[in-house]
Amino acid sequence: MTQMTVHILSTGVMETDLTWLLLKGGKTIRDRHHRDDPVVWGDCPTHAVLIEHPDGRVLWDTGVPRDWETRWAPTGFHDFFPVREPVDGPGYLDTALAQFDLQPDDIDILVLSHLHFDHAANAKMFDPAKTKILTSTAELEGVKTITGYSKGAHIVSDYDGLEIGGIAGDEEILPGISVIQTPGHTWGTMSLRLDLDNDGPKIFTSDAVYLSDSWGPPAVGAAIVWDNLVWLESVEKLRAIADATGAEVIFGHDAEQKKTLRYAPDGYYS
Ligand SMILES: [Zn+2]
Repeated sequence: MTQMTVHILSTGVMETDLTWLLLKGGKTIRDRHHRDDPVVWGDCPTHAVLIEHPDGRVLWDTGVPRDWETRWAPTGFHDFFPVREPVDGPGYLDTALAQFDLQPDDIDILVLSHLHFDHAANAKMFDPAKTKILTSTAELEGVKTITGYSKGAHIVSDYDGLEIGGIAGDEEILPGISVIQTPGHTWGTMSLRLDLDNDGPKIFTSDAVYLSDSWGPPAVGAAIVWDNLVWLESVEKLRAIADATGAEVIFGHDAEQKKTLRYAPDGYYS
């Protein structure tokens, strides 16, 4: 076991029609008794994970960008996932790091769960000469097929030209910090596993699993999924690891679960 301290950073809260996040389960898709009910909009929070490890400082994901309105406008998603935080206020990655007197250059390793616009958007704050930037090899291969400004929730300018290393398998980044390949949401979405001395194992699923309601069982899909069958296999892979280890599973965009988590700057895990 390796002593490390883990901070969950709030990196922008989007609002959205919850049908994007959960296609079934009674919350948004209506039966005939509820056909006249209004659509349900809710919070879609994003987080990053800052890990102070004896061998280096690691960051998992980067949240949404301050210029989301203009950057996302060509995709149309700015109208479906507006960000709640004022563009010049706190609640984004830079101010979240500043709470710890940190700048992007202070991060030794940045791991991007995948390259969607609400996870990789701030990757270019980081200098590859000072921060090793990693994502899955499959994601790097997948985004090569994108032409033009964007495809789905991938925006090419978020990551193009940036030196990003590929991780092909399930791999330990530093002792007690591992990535789990959980494709399906995108070509190469990864999850993060932390084995903590005091708080036990944690799995951060990113978009491999959006919500507790997506996790099930049975697992319930969402609107933005690259490959549904591959996605389902990844959820069951995570479930097997969680069952075997007793890990707490922390979902990618779960506003209800967020209330139960220890967020920075006051809360932490160790
Ligand atoms: Zn995503």
